[in-house]
Amino acid sequence: MWPPFVRHILLPVHERLMGRATFCYWRELEQTQWWPLERLRERQLVKLRDLVSMALKQTSAYARLAGVDASWRPETLDDLQRLPLLDKATISAHREDLVNRGVLGGAIRYNTGGSSGEPLIFYFDKRRQAYDKAARMRTHEWFGIPPGDREAYIWGSPVELSRQDRMKILRDSLTNELLLSAFDLSEKSAGSFIEQLQRFGPDCIFGYPSCIALMCQFAGKAGYDLTNLPVRVVFSTAEVLYDHQKEIISEAFGGVPVVNGYGSREGGFIAHECPEGRMHITSENVIVEFIKDGRPVCLGEDGEIVVTHLDNHAMPFIRYRTGDIGQPSDETCPCGRGLEVMKVLKGRSTDFIVIPDGRWVHGLALIYVIRDIPGVQQYQIVQEDVDAILVRLVCSEAFPPDGHNRIRDGIAKRLGENVRVTIEDVDLIKGDPSGKFRYVISEVAKQRQALL
Ligand SMILES: [Zn+2]
Repeated sequence: MWPPFVRHILLPVHERLMGRATFCYWRELEQTQWWPLERLRERQLVKLRDLVSMALKQTSAYARLAGVDASWRPETLDDLQRLPLLDKATISAHREDLVNRGVLGGAIRYNTGGSSGEPLIFYFDKRRQAYDKAARMRTHEWFGIPPGDREAYIWGSPVELSRQDRMKILRDSLTNELLLSAFDLSEKSAGSFIEQLQRFGPDCIFGYPSCIALMCQFAGKAGYDLTNLPVRVVFSTAEVLYDHQKEIISEAFGGVPVVNGYGSREGGFIAHECPEGRMHITSENVIVEFIKDGRPVCLGEDGEIVVTHLDNHAMPFIRYRTGDIGQPSDETCPCGRGLEVMKVLKGRSTDFIVIPDGRWVHGLALIYVIRDIPGVQQYQIVQEDVDAILVRLVCSEAFPPDGHNRIRDGIAKRLGENVRVTIEDVDLIKGDPSGKFRYVISEVAKQRQALL
């Protein structure tokens, strides 16, 4: 579809029908990014007061959890520190009492794997959804990609076609989007994958850096030239973008910028790299703190990234612990935007699993099998050999009697019958020495990757 038609008519109409003020917010964010930081902070305080008021008055649990009076309001942004940190366990334990059922447009339920090994179900509203979309549109615009330009999504998850998905594919093709699942990536299948890309002719690519880099390596090996694609920028998301991946991807597409976005399903669209290479916080919508031992760290020190989403009024994500590590910065960026700058140091990374028939399966494909089973509190998937998978599980009583079989069947469906699956019930799964939790660990993939 002709991009200006998508940009000016199709997408705005779609968003309006979905009850989201996305394009209105986008125009607003285009202005506010140039505001000086002090003015952005004033806006944050106004929004923070509204958010705290909602949390204390419209949810039955927050005032008790926070240990403050329902009439309490923050006088300054520093008062935020008087409220407690929220972690996944607390949200899970009090979930239904933390929902604001009266929120405009309704509270929308979402289930995520999170980043610390525990699945999380939470609620968000249309306002947050629209702001996150608008923030994403803004950062695309930073690299000369307006809404409606052709965008290929490279995802690690399997695409199984339900009726809803077929609707989505139709909608994607109307709005110039192409979803490619890198779930079945192998040296053999890479060819058809790349031919799809060539037919589509994307202006930009968006997705997991691990999958995009692997695709580029296969393309190079098979002699495909990706530099003749019209791609102008590659947006990396959901995982840490390593320097070696950045080089592989940039070179494969003829030296285009490969830029990093940082966010999560529960935390929102938190930060994004600008053309000057700084990570800008979406300061209009989130307050980011860096915490160590319960206190904010100094400039240049490492801390856990703690997020307050100012525009989610369905559930108070106030001082929410992401489990990721970053650093605050007082740098002003040469690009001229007033948005704060931060550094993301350690975030999520997921290994691939390489199976006997040569396919590289992104770890998420297996994560999806396990995380949707009730009662799973923690899990880890270890590839011990090319045909052997070990699943470690921590479960509550809610875990169903056929849970183990569901996991075995789900994994067999993804990896084939030739892979042995062992399930081990344990009391606790520890993170690695860096403190970061890894859901999927494969030494086999690491060794193969070194040979590519
Ligand atoms: Zn900048």
